[in-house]
Amino acid sequence: MLREHGPDGAVFHRFGRSGFQTLVDAIGNPRRDTALARLRKEEAAKAAEYKAEQQRLAEEKEREREARRPVCTGCGTRFTDTRWEAVQASDWGQKRDKHPKLCEDCKAKAIQTKRDEAAAAKKKQKEEAAEAERKAKRPFARFRT
Ligand SMILES: [Zn+2]
Repeated sequence: MLREHGPDGAVFHRFGRSGFQTLVDAIGNPRRDTALARLRKEEAAKAAEYKAEQQRLAEEKEREREARRPVCTGCGTRFTDTRWEAVQASDWGQKRDKHPKLCEDCKAKAIQTKRDEAAAAKKKQKEEAAEAERKAKRPFARFRT
């Protein structure tokens, strides 16, 4: 068998073990085993340290992001992610938000207020036009009291 596999082959059989082993495995090497165990331990510690560092960096990045998150000038609440993205959209093709400092609710209120004001102004204009027309039909109205 030794002739067949050579000295590096699995030709050694030890009591209490199944199958044949190479010479190095059969005699064992406690110093190598200890060194390997120490190496594995160090690698695991390094990996854990790296993971903790990555986690810390991610948390720091998230904190910085939260600090940059805009606040609504209307009610003081922080923007949601979707609202923040909508506000930041300023590409050439995309339409810019007309109320970049307001949250979704305050924006809706502002738009509604503007619409109401526009409607009121239009109504007033119409009334004034009707009044002017009514006065124009009575040319001497200003002489009467
Ligand atoms: Zn708001």
